[in-house]
Amino acid sequence: MSAVLSAGQAAAGDTSAELATESHLAHTYHPLEVMVESGEGAWVTDTAGGRYLDCLAAYSAVNFGHGHPALIAAAKQQLDRITLTSRAFHNDKLEPFAAALAALAGKDMVIPMNTGAEAVESGIKVARAWGYRVKGVAQGMANIIVADGNFHGRTTTIISFSNDPVATDDFGPFTPGFRSVPYGDAAALEAAIDENTVAVLIEPIQGEAGIVIPPAEYLPAVREITTRHNVLFIADEIQSGLGRTGATFQCDNVGVVPDLYLLGKALGGGIVPVSAVVGNSDILGVLGAGEHGSTFGGNPLAAAVGTAVVELLATGEMQERARMLGARLDARLTALIGRGVVAVRTAGLWAGIDIDPELATGREVCERLMLRGVLAKDTHGSTIRLAPPIVVEAADLDIAIDQLEAVLEELAGR
Ligand SMILES: *Cc1c(COP(=O)(O)O)cnc(C)c1O
Repeated sequence: MSAVLSAGQAAAGDTSAELATESHLAHTYHPLEVMVESGEGAWVTDTAGGRYLDCLAAYSAVNFGHGHPALIAAAKQQLDRITLTSRAFHNDKLEPFAAALAALAGKDMVIPMNTGAEAVESGIKVARAWGYRVKGVAQGMANIIVADGNFHGRTTTIISFSNDPVATDDFGPFTPGFRSVPYGDAAALEAAIDENTVAVLIEPIQGEAGIVIPPAEYLPAVREITTRHNVLFIADEIQSGLGRTGATFQCDNVGVVPDLYLLGKALGGGIVPVSAVVGNSDILGVLGAGEHGSTFGGNPLAAAVGTAVVELLATGEMQERARMLGARLDARLTALIGRGVVAVRTAGLWAGIDIDPELATGREVCERLMLRGVLAKDTHGSTIRLAPPIVVEAADLDIAIDQLEAVLEELAGR
């Protein structure tokens, strides 16, 4: 443990000097002062040779760890064959990928895209087209219900239904057709539905909001309400899905099957951006040729990596591992309540930790964790999140929590 600590400290000192030079990057991020150079499994190494346990895993895009052998092998093999054809032609990797992903989700059709935001945009377009062509909503009248505190990405339409002023200020005018209701309140959601409602779009757990887990009865109620009103239930599982919460989808954990899954992040194995909308052909089949697309969507490299990701998940081992390690994470974090921690929310290997705001901001805790060789990210105010790769060793997970404990003691004693 002290080796981890000194390596992290030495590295932080060296890299911050390097990072002090003028940047040519727009100021849209405020990264921790660590210059990562390489990674393996749950660990990354910086340019000074310092090692850090990665407890963010690129917001769950690296669920299976840095450089997972099966995923790297699939990518390397495909790099030597062909990487991009566009959808103007078939490629031999895409149909098998779609079939495997649809089977994993228990659905029969896939729209392949690249980033998460594109999957969300695709879901919105599908829902509107379904509303006009199948449900019979009057042209231009469709509305979609979303939840307060949502995070679905950064495009102009998606920020149109964000409640976060940092995401929206000075970016208007906004796309109409969305109604936001309190998250976790099924009655409010039902009250917002009218004859023009085509979909409900929600995160089964709100990740960016701080790993906010709704009451157990919420998602089943949303399913029942949307079915009764002939409204599509779109689950944005871009961060919560693909193993993170101890199941293939967080919806599985609460016994709910949405109409559409929006997937991204881990679907690309941390190698290339791969996202998808997954559903049944009675819904996804409403789109015709030319009505939607993406130059890179469904490219053979992405499809090869995505197929390897689905194969990893098909055995259930990753989900089981997240469940087991998650129970350990939950027990150890819960023990910190009252000792600098105000509240803890976990779902599998995913934790939101509210630090006592009197003690420190989330940012400050993350900076101190970094000096101790643990990389984590604050969400809002005094909340930090932990989402290590699922391949993390139990002993390494313990190191991360030991270091958090040490940071809290340090802060209490200053
Ligand atoms: C990250 C995220 C997105 C957006 O994904 P990008 O790949 O960054 O566009 C959408 N929804 C949720 C829930 C996310 O966590």
